[in-house]
Amino acid sequence: MPIRKKYQFENVEGVRVGRLNSGVNTTFIVYRIGDTLIDAGPINQWRAVKGFVSEKPIRQLLLTHHHEDHSSNAASIAKLANIVPFAPELSQKKLREGYKTPILQKLIWGNPQPVITQTMPDELFLEDGTKLVPIHTPGHAKDLHCFFLPEKRWLFSGDLYISKSLRYMRSDENLAQLLDSIRSVLKLDFEVLFCPHRGILEDGKQALTAKLENILTLCRKAQDLKASGTETPQIVVELLGPEDMMARMTGNNFSKRNMIEEALKVTDFSA
Ligand SMILES: [Zn+2]
Repeated sequence: MPIRKKYQFENVEGVRVGRLNSGVNTTFIVYRIGDTLIDAGPINQWRAVKGFVSEKPIRQLLLTHHHEDHSSNAASIAKLANIVPFAPELSQKKLREGYKTPILQKLIWGNPQPVITQTMPDELFLEDGTKLVPIHTPGHAKDLHCFFLPEKRWLFSGDLYISKSLRYMRSDENLAQLLDSIRSVLKLDFEVLFCPHRGILEDGKQALTAKLENILTLCRKAQDLKASGTETPQIVVELLGPEDMMARMTGNNFSKRNMIEEALKVTDFSA
């Protein structure tokens, strides 16, 4: 499968890969800064990722979380570059032992492959000495970390951003935690955001601020409807439209209902 798009921003390079080309949720960007790789990409795209990874020597691979679109080439990259990837401590067991994914995810990304990792330290360095700080940002996944480069004012956001609004959530996502994570990241002094799905956002802080505001607006509307006696299924339809293929094909793992149920639980509306 081809490389769908190449990216370059200062000394950051990226390749977008994906079996299906139907938007940001089915394609993935592997980023490289010198000899450092950020995330490994999906296994069914190994051929394309291997071509990219082989262009230059790789000294370190940093994983943001265990999800298979981010991590499933890690074992192959480890072998190719003779390295042990860094992963958040909370990701390591899942990465080592493997885990099951729903059929739709298997179709889009392939089957996750187990990989042995080493625990990510509190700070890491690029080949030119630039500091990179892992920031724990749970919500989308318990183990998700973003990577902050203070001297560059860059944020590699894992799956914290993806889109300026949210319409679906996975059944294991926690919206209140996600909002707290966005708030804590917005306190950092960054400008450019590198999202492995959306791409490179030069006004990244503004985009992440807009996401926080959009989600809070949705939460407010959902809670107002609930307070006026509307039942949850009706709130879903009124605010997000009827449930579609996504919920059916994922066995409700990824649905609008999950989104509204989480929106109804939010109590902190601070921006
Ligand atoms: Zn993820």
